[in-house]
Amino acid sequence: MKSWNCTLSSAAMILLLVMPAPAEEPALPIDRLVETEREFARTCGVKGIRQAFTEFFADDGVNFQPHPVRTKKAFAERPVSPNESKRKLEWAPEFADISAEGDIGYTTGPSRFTDSSKEKPFVQYGAFFSIWKRQPDGVYRVLLDAGVDVPGPVATLDPPLTKGPAHKVPFSEFLGRDEREKRDLARLDLSSGNALASEKETACQRLYAQDARFLRDGHMPAAGQSAVCEAVLSQRAVKKWEVISAGISGSGDLGFTYGRFEREACEPGYFVRVYRRRVGRPWQIAAEVNLPRPPQTPGETSGQPPAASVANWGLLVHSGAGNFASSTLTGETAAARLAGMKAALEAGYRVLACGGSATDAVQAAVEVMEDSPHFNAGKGAVFTRAGTHELDAAIMDGKTLAAGAVAGLKTVRNPIRLARYVMEKSPHVMMIGEGAEALGKEDGAIEFVPSGYFDTQEARDALERAQKKDVAPAPASPPRSFSESPDEKYGTVGAVALDKEGRLAAATSTGGMTNKRPGRVGDVPVIGAGTYAGPGCAVSATGHGEYFIRYTAAHDICARVTYAKASIGDASRAVVMDVLKNAGGDGGVIAMDGNGAIAVEFNTTGMGHGYIGPDGKAWVKLTREDSATGR
Ligand code: ASP
Repeated sequence: MKSWNCTLSSAAMILLLVMPAPAEEPALPIDRLVETEREFARTCGVKGIRQAFTEFFADDGVNFQPHPVRTKKAFAERPVSPNESKRKLEWAPEFADISAEGDIGYTTGPSRFTDSSKEKPFVQYGAFFSIWKRQPDGVYRVLLDAGVDVPGPVATLDPPLTKGPAHKVPFSEFLGRDEREKRDLARLDLSSGNALASEKETACQRLYAQDARFLRDGHMPAAGQSAVCEAVLSQRAVKKWEVISAGISGSGDLGFTYGRFEREACEPGYFVRVYRRRVGRPWQIAAEVNLPRPPQTPGETSGQPPAASVANWGLLVHSGAGNFASSTLTGETAAARLAGMKAALEAGYRVLACGGSATDAVQAAVEVMEDSPHFNAGKGAVFTRAGTHELDAAIMDGKTLAAGAVAGLKTVRNPIRLARYVMEKSPHVMMIGEGAEALGKEDGAIEFVPSGYFDTQEARDALERAQKKDVAPAPASPPRSFSESPDEKYGTVGAVALDKEGRLAAATSTGGMTNKRPGRVGDVPVIGAGTYAGPGCAVSATGHGEYFIRYTAAHDICARVTYAKASIGDASRAVVMDVLKNAGGDGGVIAMDGNGAIAVEFNTTGMGHGYIGPDGKAWVKLTREDSATGR
């Protein structure tokens, strides 16, 4: 593969090094900038990451590791590791733009990181974004550098280059810069969060340029206003911006800002923005990067511990019980479930670690699993016998006993969001079907999707299998036994959490049971059956819902903890392994008490579950082996 990267053969490099410098410098600043970027990539291939970054960063240049650091200083202070030579970073610019005056420019394009120090080489694809500043000696050096990971291989590391429009504008058209203008840019950052939250598309089209670019971790880069707006608006609204630094080109046409933000549910991140404008026109965002901002050290946020900090704050999730063994799931399904639960734990952890509430954390975790096709909740929900989807969900705040539950939803992308909405925006606790969906439409806060959005082949196959087994209508009572087939579709999802202020919460979301009658409602949205949280106990259940309703399973566990002073582990075990099992009710629970002690109990052979605590290390399991109870 021909590319400007670290894999150029050493013979080629020697040739490049001994070749005389070209007689003339490329005429345009943008060409010099692009050439410098390419030289940076070549140098990285020859001399390694440390040396290349040290050579090509400005003295005050910053990159994110994952927090912003002065790059040269950070490399100088970091001890050399024996594996450094086994780590390769390759990249190439595919877009570049520069101010009319040529003092500030930026480049972006695909990257690939390979670490061959491990037995199996690790490869991570990404996209880089660099803001360059012309130094007093005329050379370009990196001022700000932000890279994101992308989910799949990049198409090529030798992309064609597009040049942005700014470099074509004559310098004389512009006004120059001053401190006031930098403050204006920073103010634009601050106001854009509110504008995007309230006016959405209209604000996005005003704020982002036609050819804008948007990079965020875990996603392919978006280019062009409509793709950018789709990506920007699919995220939770930013509720707090803090600009760390801003700069404007001498020609006043290109500026940048970078800083920290927090989204709703306290999801912290860093942003980098490049702004562009024409004379007499407002600034528009030409490029933006969003990066996650993990706690500086586990559990620490901005240095302000919450008033009453609980040592054992944490989050437990489940992804459905059933009579399966790890070995009967295909490797792919098992891996997808484990990865989905891990992502859910990390989403909830980000909320808890930065001081967010348990309610926000369980919602964030459940939403991640609702968005994954690998669980029976949101996308991937099972089918009713009529070939439709009817989704149930509930959320409960253990401190206030506020609860919201929804049942029989057909077009709400994230049922747990509507459950939360019922809890906070209506005087009710439980709402069903059309009435619930109508409430969600009132102020546009809930996203709706066509019902086909929930379809997956896996769920369709499960329906077919169930209908073959079950030609006669299912008897009303006792109901057919729960998920016996090893390849049955499992995957109700749930979470319980304890936050730093000692508040507990529980949330559960499901498509119900494969082949259920339209109109059947399971235990999940029945407060006290499949979902419950009180001041000292929170439970989310999964299993044969009819039994969990009749035995008010979740509340029974909490009642034992509250009145009989049972431990969370004993209470959960008694209800799942004695009460439910003796009655024939298959399933399990995750539970947590007010000290953060956890219980994972299931009377089936499998139940996906996982935990994350203050150390930020997630563990996930699909079956009983190594499950942790009564920590
Ligand atoms: N409990 C759910 C229901 O009965 C199903 C499950 O957990 O898999 O609707």
